[in-house]
Amino acid sequence: MDVIVIGGGIVGVATAYQLRAAGHRVCVVERHATVAQGATYGHGGTVLPTPLDVWFGPTFMASRQSAKNGVISKPGFNGPARQFIKQLTELQDPEAFGRQYARLRPLIELSRDAMADMEARFALEYEQASGLLYLVRSPHEWEQTQPALDILRQYEVPHHVLTPAECAAFEHSVPTDPEFAGGILFDQERTANCPLFAKLIKQTLDNQGGVQFMFGCEVSSIRLEGQRASVELAPRPGAASRSREVDVIHGDAVVVAAGHGSLPLLERLGLRLPLHPLRLHNLVAPIAHEECAPHVAIVDAVKRIAISRMNQRLRIAGGAVLQSASQIDKPLGESLTKEALALLGQATHDWIPGAARISAALPWEGVKLLSPDGLPVIGNALHPRLFVNLGHGPAGWGVACGAGKLVAEIVSGRTPDVPADTLAAFRADRF
Ligand SMILES: Cc1cc2nc3c(=O)[nH]c(=O)nc-3n(C[C@H](O)[C@H](O)[C@H](O)COP(=O)(O)OP(=O)(O)OC[C@H]3O[C@@H](n4cnc5c(N)ncnc54)[C@H](O)[C@@H]3O)c2cc1C
Repeated sequence: MDVIVIGGGIVGVATAYQLRAAGHRVCVVERHATVAQGATYGHGGTVLPTPLDVWFGPTFMASRQSAKNGVISKPGFNGPARQFIKQLTELQDPEAFGRQYARLRPLIELSRDAMADMEARFALEYEQASGLLYLVRSPHEWEQTQPALDILRQYEVPHHVLTPAECAAFEHSVPTDPEFAGGILFDQERTANCPLFAKLIKQTLDNQGGVQFMFGCEVSSIRLEGQRASVELAPRPGAASRSREVDVIHGDAVVVAAGHGSLPLLERLGLRLPLHPLRLHNLVAPIAHEECAPHVAIVDAVKRIAISRMNQRLRIAGGAVLQSASQIDKPLGESLTKEALALLGQATHDWIPGAARISAALPWEGVKLLSPDGLPVIGNALHPRLFVNLGHGPAGWGVACGAGKLVAEIVSGRTPDVPADTLAAFRADRF
């Protein structure tokens, strides 16, 4: 089949790779000049999510204070945004958390295998580093973390629960004063550079052939007619006055993998998904003192702030801001941006003092798409030739490789090798 993939982020690139591997011809349409310029650019480095990374569960927004939960609420958000948060906080219940994680788990394992296969096939080097140490400050938060530890034990995920002294002995850059409750070490999990990975996969596809990348092209709408699917392109700046003809790319199927740009495209087709765009921040800071720099990635488990080392710099990601969806394309405003970046600076100072030169850090912000039940939206939607792959939230990076495989199987008319309730839990019509 000729398949059009809308979006050149990690999800679009991984989907194109898997579709090509399944024997399809692919055209990736991306509005930017290259791949990995959206949320993919700002990733925090964590490759695959543990139960401590998913954006639901007992520790997620358990406190109302941003200094404690790591999430800033912009004043004045509207009804749909409030409803969205209400639904997410229902998953604080340990049982609901466990149920939802169980549905996500097969996708994580599929992604692990898919990534390992891609890595081995092409000998990819993309700043991989082993080891993530999750740290928890207060005894109360430690208590709230226990359901996640139960899940780790249930699924036999390799990990070590450490006392503060053991954390400091393992990672010399973490001080035991002020006191903290403990840590969880994943010595087999990894951090890596997501945009670099996406670019390497694109290069591989360029070399192999069969995948065409169309950059600088914005899809304005999707057309679904019988057994055909096509996309209309918005006029390029400056070209509008010359011709009234609309550029159309024809195909047999369309996969929407356009991050938060997916929502308006699907809404124009009559599919309104209750996903919410969430603004996140990151800082890339030079190492200040080598002797204070961590040798594994450090994650503030409750505030969900990840600090990963990449060569001579630290990548610090988190600082989410909840706001109305209608405001997401407008600038956030200086004071909220400062507040979000301050959370990142403070977490770095608290857990690894002296490691980063925050005053020289480069700030960045991006938008990720989160679903109210914490799970991505993957599969067929609305029409036999329309497919979606979006809403991977804070865990989109490694999971994209498995999600791309799921989509490729479904497009090819095969049943993916994951449990039926996982597939059902990802469907667009579940809401
Ligand atoms: C600061 C930050 C830190 C993060 N940290 C992590 C982490 O540590 N680990 C992790 O797993 N995940 C992390 N995430 C989440 C992860 O980055 C995302 O889940 C993932 O990048 C989503 O990929 P995507 O391809 O769906 O979206 P994007 O990367 O946003 O790509 C979508 C693409 O679609 C294009 N597009 C949109 N509309 C159109 C249109 N109409 N026509 C043509 N092109 C269009 C956009 O230009 C964009 O390039 C983080 C996100 C942020 C913002």
